[in-house]
Amino acid sequence: MNSQNVVIAIDGPAGAGKSTVSKLLAKMLNIRYLDTGAMYRCLAFKAIEAGLTVNDGDEASELLKGLEIQFGTGDPQPVFLNGVEVTADIRSPQVGEYASALSQFSPIRKQMVDRQKKMVADGGVVLEGRDVTTVVAPDATLKVYLTASLEERAKRRLNEFVDSGAATSFLTVRDQILQRDHRDITRDDSPLTVAEGAEVIESAGMSPLQVAEKIVSFLATR
Ligand code: C5P
Repeated sequence: MNSQNVVIAIDGPAGAGKSTVSKLLAKMLNIRYLDTGAMYRCLAFKAIEAGLTVNDGDEASELLKGLEIQFGTGDPQPVFLNGVEVTADIRSPQVGEYASALSQFSPIRKQMVDRQKKMVADGGVVLEGRDVTTVVAPDATLKVYLTASLEERAKRRLNEFVDSGAATSFLTVRDQILQRDHRDITRDDSPLTVAEGAEVIESAGMSPLQVAEKIVSFLATR
């Protein structure tokens, strides 16, 4: 199999390690990395700036039409919103909350999915999110559902926030993840679920490298 053409789609709940593993895989296989959550975060960032609430789905959908979201290369992967770098700005807990809430609105999801489908059309990409195995790339070469226990995921997210200097606590992060899981799993439009044909990986006790190697081994069977 020529890895330049593959599409690897990874879904799973918040904090399961999707980003770390996806970036690692992209590097190992020398293919692109598409962080679909960053796109929802960009919209969230602009919505906050525009003074919208988490319930202003229609206004946010209009706002999205005027947003150009682009990715650079590097780690962390640079994210540009209308030409301005927002890589660090979109990682705050508040932006995460807005992204989670706004991503429930169908007109927003439809625009995002249309953009994402175009971005993966040429192959050679690993993409991660909450609907990439079910909606964005259901015909991916390999579909993975990556998960871990709530406690494990909260621990990882807390470490990320601490590393980025955000002030928060384990219980706050755990509650936020619980809420976001609930929203992602129960939303009407493309809820987070295990896609047909997806490989389920429970990542507890595995390093990101071990998870990435497991995914590569699945790829070899396609
Ligand atoms: O993955 P990340 O935490 O950056 O995503 C931010 C939010 O965007 C998630 O909580 C989720 O609700 C939403 N999202 C989504 N569909 C995707 C990617 C992210 O609904 N494909």
